[in-house]
Amino acid sequence: MADPSPSTPLLDLNIVPYQFLSPKLEPKPEPIEIPNPNPSSVLSPNSILSPELHTPLQQISPSSSAAGAGAGEDDLFAEYLRLSQLFLSSYNDKLRTAGATGTSSSASTAVVVSRKSRSRSAEMVRVSALGTQDRAHFRDLLRRTRITFESLRLLVLLEEGRAGGLLAAKRGRSDLKSAALMKNRDLWLNRDKRIVGPIPGVAVGDVYFFRMEICVLGLHGQVQAGIDYVPASRSSTREPVATSIIVSGGYEDDDDKGYELVYTGHGGRAPNMHKHSVDQKLEGGNLGLERSMAYGIEIRVIRGMKSDKSPTGKVYVYDGLYKIVECWLDVGKSGFAVYKYRLLRIEGQDNMGSLVMKLAEELKANPLRVRPRGYLSLDISMGKENSAVSLFNDIDGDRYRDPLLFEYLARPVYPPGLQGKIFGDCGGGCQCVKNCTADCFCAKMSGGEFAYDANGILLRGKPVIYECGPYCRCSASCPNRVSQKGLTNRLEIFRSLETGWGVRSLDLIRAGSFICEFSGLVLTKQQAEALSPNGDGFVFPNRFPERWVEWGDVSDVFPDYVPARVPSLPGLDFAIDVSRARNVACYMSHSSSPNVFLQFVLYDHYNVAFPHLMIFALENIPPLRELSIDYGMAVAEEWVGKLTM
Ligand SMILES: [Zn+2]
Ligand SMILES: [Zn+2]
Ligand SMILES: [Zn+2]
Repeated sequence: MADPSPSTPLLDLNIVPYQFLSPKLEPKPEPIEIPNPNPSSVLSPNSILSPELHTPLQQISPSSSAAGAGAGEDDLFAEYLRLSQLFLSSYNDKLRTAGATGTSSSASTAVVVSRKSRSRSAEMVRVSALGTQDRAHFRDLLRRTRITFESLRLLVLLEEGRAGGLLAAKRGRSDLKSAALMKNRDLWLNRDKRIVGPIPGVAVGDVYFFRMEICVLGLHGQVQAGIDYVPASRSSTREPVATSIIVSGGYEDDDDKGYELVYTGHGGRAPNMHKHSVDQKLEGGNLGLERSMAYGIEIRVIRGMKSDKSPTGKVYVYDGLYKIVECWLDVGKSGFAVYKYRLLRIEGQDNMGSLVMKLAEELKANPLRVRPRGYLSLDISMGKENSAVSLFNDIDGDRYRDPLLFEYLARPVYPPGLQGKIFGDCGGGCQCVKNCTADCFCAKMSGGEFAYDANGILLRGKPVIYECGPYCRCSASCPNRVSQKGLTNRLEIFRSLETGWGVRSLDLIRAGSFICEFSGLVLTKQQAEALSPNGDGFVFPNRFPERWVEWGDVSDVFPDYVPARVPSLPGLDFAIDVSRARNVACYMSHSSSPNVFLQFVLYDHYNVAFPHLMIFALENIPPLRELSIDYGMAVAEEWVGKLTM
């Protein structure tokens, strides 16, 4: 991965000339957020006035040395930091002893170093006008941080699943533990400055499955509170200033129309209650919002939405910047005084993520009613894929409809000569009668562990993965059968002015999940050279950069971590001819900052010289966002030109 810390200054940081703050007040927690890990300690309504007690984990670990607005957060993490330390040492031990299987460099000393996590800065800055290069740099940094967060979370889950494990006592909050591990290493982004306005690298419409991830990235720095603000006690002008809010729905006085939003201030509610029981006051975040209105400071708005794609049943969508245009004291539905704020979305931003998600749902249900024109085919695969692949061109569909001309090939076709080598060196699959377990033959072939978690999420990238296949005795529901099952998301080939043909999904795609296979006619090196000496219309698997090493990379937390080198793969010299028959994958655009990556997989044959080219998500990909893959810089232009026109 490229070094994310260039030496030249990239930012034009305009210091916003007011810094503010206030005593810590009770947060406006979300209605269905952060289940109390200690349910017996239900707070009494009196504790509204002693907000420090509101973070559930403080009850577990009441000692806190940190001061200021970060104090509650630090307490929230105290217990998880302790567990994380245990996890760190145990995992480092494992990394060191894993040298035998080639997953670790055994020489270095993996000391559990915990950098002192700094408290959050109150210095406010606005990041203005980033160039293309800077945007890519910050996007890469953000992606790396997200991958670390998710990879750690998967590791924690794996550890929890194993024989009770050392983390068994506090199951279920892998997100908190992952965030704590990263906090311990000072890996949370945007802590040294309070960014007003857009966060570099964060795109409007980005989707997060865990609220902790939003904190880790610095998009909204409060673990529980709905309003994030610089407190008055830490600002030069002694006034708080709000920078972001999380709108979750479910509050009786909120009114969310999308572009216009009436947001209710915090306070006046008993913990975990939606209704107000006392009057709200103009202080803390409430005053912060009022001051932000007075100073014209834009507010980042993140919306919580229900989603069955998320392990928590909920996702968070970054909807962009809003301006507060009005603030008033009102009588809430419960009869108590509430502060209300009218926010309007600032124009000229990318489409609102939460609306795009709703649109994508409508498109799945009734495509022609939502978009009466532009469809060239509702399923270009003609039923060959598990889920329909639509072809859409509302730009120049009268001239460009060429994807219709190719035979749609859902699975690659191998040359007949390969049949004899079908088992390669490997014999014929596993003999597991019941569920495959870690001592299954296929797990051993994959480097001693299964590649996927129970939900089919790839745990980390590898040179090649052995899925169970037709020669295994296990059932079709074996969790080691994932990419062979084909599409699970509704994909669309679409025409755009920027990239020609492109691919997007109508479903939210979770990071680490399988998307589609690169399909065509598989040719040996000799066949390829004979058919097309200059390689026109061919895909060469060996030209894809090894982006799979990024998925699962936790080296920022575990310095001893090295990418998997087993099972090993020989140099690949075959080609895939996509000049006559192809599938949806052929229309993906190139990016050197991609959101999907290539992972080689074997399942229906074991000839390592001819693995399947499977494509997985490198980050959570919102519906209708274009998928992009790294074809390798040298061939990028050639491919965008030849494959997609
Ligand atoms: Zn097995
Ligand atoms: Zn199996
Ligand atoms: Zn098997």
